[in-house]
Amino acid sequence: ARTPLIAGNWKMNLDHLQAIAFVQKLAWSLKDAKHSFGEVEVAVFPPFTDLRSVQTLIAADKLELVHGAQDVSIHDNGAYTGEISGAFLKALACSYVIIGHSERRQYHHEDDGVVAQKTVAALKHGVTPVVCVGETAEDLEAHGPAAVPVGQLETVLDAISASDADAEIVVAYEPVWAIGSGQAASPEQAQQVCAALRAAIVEKLGEDAAARTRILYGGSVKSGNIAGFMAQKDVDGALVGGASLDAAEFAAIARFR
Ligand code: 13P
Repeated sequence: ARTPLIAGNWKMNLDHLQAIAFVQKLAWSLKDAKHSFGEVEVAVFPPFTDLRSVQTLIAADKLELVHGAQDVSIHDNGAYTGEISGAFLKALACSYVIIGHSERRQYHHEDDGVVAQKTVAALKHGVTPVVCVGETAEDLEAHGPAAVPVGQLETVLDAISASDADAEIVVAYEPVWAIGSGQAASPEQAQQVCAALRAAIVEKLGEDAAARTRILYGGSVKSGNIAGFMAQKDVDGALVGGASLDAAEFAAIARFR
């Protein structure tokens, strides 16, 4: 069985001092609810400048949380001003890194090839990639629900099968039209695309890889709609944006049952 993953993408919110206060409050909210870490994995994805503070807090207080970054360079080190390498993330004990979020595809022109290279770079340094895919409203209109996200994932899967077919990845299906819009996909829509994504993994990496890979839904997830997504066979968790910035609300999402 796949361990559910509830992941909070903070995007460009909370500086390192705010992050410390927030993570303490979140840990309290999770504990208060007798949340059991064994049943669901809870991860936060703060900005780069917060990672050291969050890492220190999690380690010092033995919090039942893991942390990750929101992006990674395709390079290991060298003359790449402003970039952050997978090795640096590993040194900060990052378990995960988000790759190919639609905001990076849109504002930083990251294409499927770059997303594939970043995925391989994360794996090389032992950081589990959370690969984001998803269609825009125009894509949905023109191609239907699954074609664009499946195509995006296939490029990544080809790169993985060429480097390390046994690698662990997480996939996040985030329809662009559902992000920050308050218009979440329906659980059935999410299930349909997540099933298609899992079928693509079967085809490219095999049954075992598909059976163990967690596929998350993201886009206007909140405590009021999480249960519907988690009831779906191929949805193994959520990538939460806005609602992950409210500790009590994010903890409520993590208690989806
Ligand atoms: P919202 O939850 O704010 O819609 O954002 C989703 C998202 O982009 C998470 O990566």
